[in-house]
Amino acid sequence: MSAGYKAAKKRKPLLSSVLSLLLGFAGLSGGAHEAATAATAQKTAQSKTPLILISIDGFRADYLDRGLTPNLLSLAKNGSYAKVMHPSFPSITFPNHYTLVTGLYPDHHGIVGNNMDDSSITPDSHFKMSDPEAVVDRRWWDEGEPLWVTAEKQGVVSATMFWPGSESDIHGVRPEMWRRYDTHVSFPERVDQVFSWLAYPAAHRPQFITLYFENVDHAGHLYGPDSKEVNENLVKVDQAIGQLVQGLKQRGVKANLVIVSDHGMAATSPDRVIALNKIVDSGAYRVITGGPYAGIEPTAGHNVNDLAPLFAHHDHMQCWPKHEIPARLHYGQNPRVPAVICMADVGWSIIGNESMAAHLTKGSHGYDNETPEMGALFIANGPAFQKHKVIDSMNNVDIQPLVAQVLKLKAPKGDSNLTAADIDQRYLAHK
Ligand code: AMP
Ligand code: ZN
Ligand code: ZN
Repeated sequence: MSAGYKAAKKRKPLLSSVLSLLLGFAGLSGGAHEAATAATAQKTAQSKTPLILISIDGFRADYLDRGLTPNLLSLAKNGSYAKVMHPSFPSITFPNHYTLVTGLYPDHHGIVGNNMDDSSITPDSHFKMSDPEAVVDRRWWDEGEPLWVTAEKQGVVSATMFWPGSESDIHGVRPEMWRRYDTHVSFPERVDQVFSWLAYPAAHRPQFITLYFENVDHAGHLYGPDSKEVNENLVKVDQAIGQLVQGLKQRGVKANLVIVSDHGMAATSPDRVIALNKIVDSGAYRVITGGPYAGIEPTAGHNVNDLAPLFAHHDHMQCWPKHEIPARLHYGQNPRVPAVICMADVGWSIIGNESMAAHLTKGSHGYDNETPEMGALFIANGPAFQKHKVIDSMNNVDIQPLVAQVLKLKAPKGDSNLTAADIDQRYLAHK
């Protein structure tokens, strides 16, 4: 029985057993299963081309030039790619994954950080991306409408092989198939899961699919962006992309692939730290999040004025009361954004006090989203997209309208400036 059925079974035992019967996979050996999957996919040749949105977490745009990712490079060269895709501020994982699928800046979709507080949910309500209860609670996600919800609402089947937000019933809707985030699921298993979904009978075969890989980000944090470990993990993720491309070919499935990352990576050092307690009395504030950028709340009995020393000039760091953050960062209007935001120069880290320097990782992200180090990946390849097209730069709020246009979905308007005609002219193939 495939992992796909297990995932479906958790939620939809009835659908799962019907599909098992229809496809008759139970009891087949691994090889026979593979053959049956391929045959079924071929027989039900795609009337509707699936779109697979793939995220390689922390894949900095220039990693593509390292000569280590031949499969990605070939998709880029034979399709479209951007020299750089700018993430949204803050250039971290949850806010940007949700931007990619909603087309909204974090201020507008509500996932303003990997860690957040919101007393309107419950008085002590706290969101942490590693908290399994928080990530499934739709109240954190409901300010945006992700592509899989748009798809499901319009009768387009969707399936998520991991994506932040995909475990929650946002607007009361879930992808038809989804998986609970689990780093132990190997990359070949993730790709096989996609193949098994593509072998479903037409009525349940997803047309919008997500696929997610975290290894490049992990290695970037632990060893730094210029490490051999990052390079090894580039090779590993490229092999998974190769498995996907080859497997689709063998199954006769023509798919549109959109391959992105959420942000880049910069080298950090314990020699490049800014300790907040040296600037302002540590009793006056609480650090909600620290590192390349910091979110700070005054403690009870204090207010933003007590944090005024932060707003003076500092080498390597700028701080603002949330409503004075420069407009180009599109951040600070949402009630979930902490009262004060500080942003470090690339390579610097903001910490509560100096003893924390010992715990810093060798790489990080979260800096100004326009810096080259935070630049993200964009590759599009498949029948919908232009071939041999190089885009100088783009913004990650453009992904949602692009995907919606390819899938012919009527999607809610996000923060992208692009019109349908711009998208057509910039990205889409013309027959
Ligand atoms: P960060 O580098 O702190 O912005 O966060 C990146 C981490 O988010 C990755 O290393 C993943 O392990 C984790 N992550 C990615 N997707 C999910 C998810 N759906 N649920 C929980 N954690 C996730
Ligand atoms: Zn990330
Ligand atoms: Zn990261």
